[in-house]
Amino acid sequence: MNKVILSKLSIEELESYIVSLGEKKFRAGQIFSWIWAKNAKSFDSMTDIKKESRELLKQNCQILDCTIKKRQISSDGTIKYLIEFQDGLCAETVLMRFDNRSNLSMCVSCQVGCKMGCKFCATGKNGFKRNLLAHEIVSQILLCQMDTGLKITNVVFMGQGEPLDNFDNIKKAIYLINKNLQISIRRMTLSTCGIVPKINELALCELKPTLAVSLHAPNHDIRKQIMPIENKYDIESLKKALKNYNEKTKDRITIEYILIGNLNDTKDCAMELIEFLKDLKCNINLIPYNSVDNSAFKKPAKKNLMLFKYILEASGKKVTIRLERGADIDAACGQLAGKVNN
Ligand code: SAH
Ligand code: SF4
Repeated sequence: MNKVILSKLSIEELESYIVSLGEKKFRAGQIFSWIWAKNAKSFDSMTDIKKESRELLKQNCQILDCTIKKRQISSDGTIKYLIEFQDGLCAETVLMRFDNRSNLSMCVSCQVGCKMGCKFCATGKNGFKRNLLAHEIVSQILLCQMDTGLKITNVVFMGQGEPLDNFDNIKKAIYLINKNLQISIRRMTLSTCGIVPKINELALCELKPTLAVSLHAPNHDIRKQIMPIENKYDIESLKKALKNYNEKTKDRITIEYILIGNLNDTKDCAMELIEFLKDLKCNINLIPYNSVDNSAFKKPAKKNLMLFKYILEASGKKVTIRLERGADIDAACGQLAGKVNN
């Protein structure tokens, strides 16, 4: 008999299910709170539920339908999890811990693989397998909270896959993270390679996360060399969608720009980028390229990175350099390949 997965159920669904088992309706509220607020790993830890009811639950249901297949801890404290879903496919999720900060950020995956084929990224190298369902996206956070006993405060949709290519599940996941895990929408950031119509759709949603955009080039010619999506939605149409998002949210967008040695890290690129971004409300996050197996790309020279930053800063925008997290366990941006045997 297939067991019922309780984390998939809304409180109303849980109530009718619990009643169908012959239990009192109020039990549903207790169970819901154990799963979503108290990180219960097992029915035995639900101490305010009497033993016979716990046995009944054990026989008929389980909390989650995915498990931690592997856990790696980086020397900088970052934890990378390989999560296995019910059909045996796996995806990675990364917990970023900063000793000097009270927030705990999780970088979650939304697809197994990716269709977008960006040349610098490890995720799509083995092709696209499938979209993750909303509850599978949210379960990554639940599993991590259960494993560490800590409360996640920020969520970034920047793991494996393209969130706006799995739009319906992402929208549901955002809703569940907000409602069930009580994480404010202001603490969620979604990163996209630039699927223009979906950015416009997101701008109309009630819950709008902070938008981060993988721009990575100041013009069409360079962008199309590294990001196939540029052939479908070019940089000018992307800019229109970003201005629209600006107007609908009143918030700043984050422009992500990977600096790749000798490709997009020149002074001219920086000047062109300033021009491109001048009428957008945005911050700029520079990401030094992280190495990926068998890639011809190079990290930028340190002095080019700093020069690039200073040129952009002179335009008045806030510019940050993304810290490399967990590179020793292949957990840094672009390194999530979801390899099962590494
Ligand atoms: N698909 C989404 C989100 C996942 S990728 C997107 O592309 O935005 C998260 C971030 O890592 C993106 O900005 C992506 O461009 C960046 N990234 C991918 N490969 C990288 C690499 N090798 N080095 C540094 N950043 C990389
Ligand atoms: Fe997909 Fe993002 Fe990687 Fe591009 S950078 S292949 S969109 S995960």
